[in-house]
This record gives sequence, structure tokens and C-alpha cells, in this order.
Amino acid sequence: MGKASGFLEIERKAAAKRSVAARKNDYKEVEEPYNPVQTQEQATRCMDCGVPFCHNGCPLGNNIPEFNDAVYEKNWKLAFEILDSTNNFPEFTGRICPAPCESACVLGINKDPVAIEYIEKSIAEKAFEEGWVNTKTPKKRKEQKVAVVGSGPAGLAAAAQLNKAGYQVTVFERADQIGGLLRYGIPDFKLEKYVIDRRVTLLEKEGVIFRTGVNVGQDISTRKLQEDFDAVLLTIGSTIPRTLDVKGKDLDGVHFAMDYLTQQNKRVALEEGYEGLDLGKNHAGEKYKKDDIRATGKRVVVIGGGDTGSDCVGTANRQGAVHVTQIAYGVQPPLDRDASTPWPLYEHKLRTSTSHEEGCERLWGVNTKAFIGDEEGKLKAIQLVNVSWKFEKGKRTLIEHPETERIVEAELALLAIGFSQPQAEGLVDDLNLKLDPRGNIITEEYKTSQKGVFAAGDCKRGQSLVVWAIHEGREAARAIDLYLSGQTLLEAKEIGMIHAEFKA
Ligand SMILES: Cc1cc2nc3c(=O)[nH]c(=O)nc-3n(C[C@H](O)[C@H](O)[C@H](O)COP(=O)(O)OP(=O)(O)OC[C@H]3O[C@@H](n4cnc5c(N)ncnc54)[C@H](O)[C@@H]3O)c2cc1C
Ligand code: SF4
Repeated sequence: MGKASGFLEIERKAAAKRSVAARKNDYKEVEEPYNPVQTQEQATRCMDCGVPFCHNGCPLGNNIPEFNDAVYEKNWKLAFEILDSTNNFPEFTGRICPAPCESACVLGINKDPVAIEYIEKSIAEKAFEEGWVNTKTPKKRKEQKVAVVGSGPAGLAAAAQLNKAGYQVTVFERADQIGGLLRYGIPDFKLEKYVIDRRVTLLEKEGVIFRTGVNVGQDISTRKLQEDFDAVLLTIGSTIPRTLDVKGKDLDGVHFAMDYLTQQNKRVALEEGYEGLDLGKNHAGEKYKKDDIRATGKRVVVIGGGDTGSDCVGTANRQGAVHVTQIAYGVQPPLDRDASTPWPLYEHKLRTSTSHEEGCERLWGVNTKAFIGDEEGKLKAIQLVNVSWKFEKGKRTLIEHPETERIVEAELALLAIGFSQPQAEGLVDDLNLKLDPRGNIITEEYKTSQKGVFAAGDCKRGQSLVVWAIHEGREAARAIDLYLSGQTLLEAKEIGMIHAEFKA
């Protein structure tokens, strides 16, 4: 263990942020680069508890007290080796994980929890600086080939693990670039894209083949994929957005959040041929109404109180919106941990993101009644109403308060109310996969209803988090290894199974 009295002497200090004035002028990461002295100080706050609840709080089972201790001892290389043994991409999670581990930190019972995510990012960045993040080329290459469809965090983690186990891995991605939502959903101010490129270059050197611009089920048939590969893993994400069935939703100026965010991420990346902004179809598969979605000079209403909505807020402010309002029909969460989520659960409480700090009016208990357009079909206002919730016999009912109905002027409305399911049209339909009532792919130990076809990540578990996608990618890789070889040496999350495990 680190310093016995560290948690009594040192206060929590996570990543420093650039000033609001500075960061609103660009799309660079909000967080300042890590500070090694600060990271060591923060690592001393870890109490190395007999039962480290943080370890269980992390979906990857990261060995948190162990890497904290190594950082305290200034043995950064060991810290990285510990982290790397459970997490393929700590440089992603160290930046954008909501850190359920911190909600489970024992210190968090009566003090601020250890700044685990910050320590994780620091270890990852130090490792890249020092050149410790090396390729993991297998000593012996197997004959068998695995196709991974979709290059989000689940697909990338699976590809990394399968490649390490010796398989010939090809990742198919329909978008122009690798990364899934890391690339086209999450804005650069949370995750700059060189972080993805740096990792993809390593994976390519290790032997993973990437084929972008290939829509499986359209550009290449699923039958061909099954013929050419010994196993197929689907990590196609949950891409169908939930929509609002209200009057005026087809007006020019009402858009899905992902269509808006994707455009801005492409602009920041100066993607070639993007100038025309003709993206063809939007994420719901409908024909695009207008090409360019921008908040510049507009009053913006973001509908949906979650992270995607918050990313829209940050983007709209950077584009020069006149005013940004974020509305949610739920009740405002409490400022502190809600009694319904006691420690060590991931706490339900009000979260203020860096985007909210940059300027945003947040309204709770507000629903959208209609979008109102001008004579040219452009959005000019939104009709809103206050709502409350009635809980009776375990059922939640939404109650509208008609006397609160009002018209709010807005030229841009962004729908950030989540995603319902993976796209069935094409790949999923062709394979005739069994789906659950929500439209997600049903699996048993990552196996779908089709022999040799596996699924992991958001397309299987529903919309979730990057850390869960990495976890699922890793576990699916183990399942495929077992399927193809009858045994596996790939690490499992469960404690005590981190080393070798053989199964017939
Ligand atoms: C705006 C936004 C912000 C978010 N912010 C955070 C955050 O801060 N922290 C966090 O932990 N999580 C965040 N999330 C959630 C997180 O990004 C997802 O849970 C995660 O990316 C899911 O990973 P995945 O690999 O399952 O799928 P995805 O990342 O969705 O990747 C799926 C990939 O499959 C490709 N694909 C689909 N069909 C085909 C096909 N037929 N052929 C070829 N390729 C195909 C898609 O193009 C895509 O690249 C955010 C989500 C959104 C939308
Ligand atoms: S991946 Fe997320 S939950 Fe796991 S240790 Fe890192 S910040 Fe915590």
C-alpha cells in the first residue's frame, strides 16, 4: 500500500481544465495534460482496502489499488503493465469514462473518492510518452480468420485480443474512419482523435487489417463473410435514434443529435470531400433534408438530459449559438447521491459536465408538444409544457400541466433522447438473427442464433458506455477463441482467471 495517511492529508484533485473562455474557442480537449506530481499525490489517497469495491465497480475489473500503489512508488511502468492487463484502451477510458469505480471507492463513503480516472489517464499517457505501449504481435499466427464488423470500442477491443491470440483479424467498418462513436459521436473536446489514430496505428502494426467504407450486408454479403471467415463478430452499435412523434418533427432545423455531432467531428477532422456535407441519409435511414446543421447565431434547444445532449450543448456553444437550452422530461436529480443508489452503486445525482459549465440553461420536467415552423418550413419555435410523474403500483405515469404550455423561440432543435436498437436492415436481417423485444441481438455467451456469428457491445446490450463496450469486446474474443480452438489464454474479467485457463 502507498502512504498510510495519504487520504487524511491530501484532498482530491482530478484533471485541471482549461478556462471556459479559452476552450470555447476551439475543439481541443478541455482537460489540461496530466501532471505526474499531482498524479502521485492523488495515488497516495488510495487506502488499499481489504475488499476494493472500486475493482468491482469497474466493468473491466481494473486492478485499481495495485496501479495506485505502483504510481505511489513511482514505478509507472509497472502501473501501466497492471492497467494494460485488464484494459486495452486506458487512454480512452481515462478521458471519457463516467468512472463507476469512483462511485464504489470506500473513501467516497465520507470523503471525496480517489481520482481513479485521472490516475488511469496519467498512466496511459506516461506509457505512450515513454514508448511502453508496444505492439503485441503473436509469436505464432493461426490459420483461422475472424471478421469483426464495426470498429467502435467493442470491435477494437475484440480485434486486439483475437490478434494477440494469433487469429487473422479483419475489421470491417462502413464509415470513412475507424472508431465508431469514439470517432463520430464523442466530440474532440472530450476525446481528440489523434488518441484513436495512435492506437489504430499500433493495431495495424500488430497485424489487424482494417477495411473502411465497407457496409457489410450491402457492399459485401453476409454469406461471403461467413464463407471467407471462420467466425464473425458483430459490434455494429446501437445506431437507430429514438424520435419524438410530435407535430413539426420534419421541419428544417429539427435534427438528430448524432447527425449534428458527426458533421462537426468531420469538420474538425477536415475530412476530405466533406465540404459539400452531403451525408446522404441520416441515422434513422431517412433522406437528409438539409445539408449543413449549425448552431451559429441560433437559439438552440437540446432535447434530452443525458451525455449526448451535453455533447450537443458543448458543440453548439463552440459554433456560436446565441442561447442554448437543454430540456429533459425527468425530475431534476438531487445534488448528492440519491437514496435509491446507496454506496457502492453508481450514484444517481445531478451531473454537471464541462459543456454545462460553458453556458446552458437546464430545464427539468419539461416536455415537447410541437415544433412550429415559418412559411418556408424552417423551425422558428417549440411548444413546451411542464410535466410531473406519478408513481403508483410500480408504474410511472407522465402528467402534463396544460396551464404551463408556452412557445419558446428556437431555430435549431437537437433530439438527444437515446438510441433504441441496432440497424436491422441489411446485415442483421440477412443473418436472420434472433432479437430481443427491444431489437437488440440475443446472445448466449456472446454467440448469436447463427452458428459462428457472435455479437458484443451496444448492438447486444443496448446503448451503454465505452468501458462496457471494451469489456464485451474482450469477453467476446475469449468466447470466439474457445469456439475456434477449444481453449483460451485470453484474460477474463473474473478475479483468479486473469492467467491461463483451459476448457475443453
Ligand atoms: C454522442 C455520444 C457521446 C457519448 N459519450 C460517451 C462518453 O463520454 N463516455 C462513455 O463511456 N460512453 C459514451 N457514449 C456511449 C459510447 O460511445 C458507446 O456505448 C460505445 O461507443 C459503444 O461501442 P460499440 O463498439 O458497441 O459501438 P459503436 O461505437 O457504435 O460502433 C459501431 C460501429 O459499427 C459500424 N457499423 C454498423 N453497421 C455496420 C455494417 N453493416 N458494416 C460495417 N460497419 C458497421 C458503425 O459505423 C460504427 O462505427 C456516447 C455515445 C454518444 C452517441
Ligand atoms: S475504466 Fe472507468 S470504471 Fe474502470 S477504472 Fe477506469 S475510470 Fe474507473
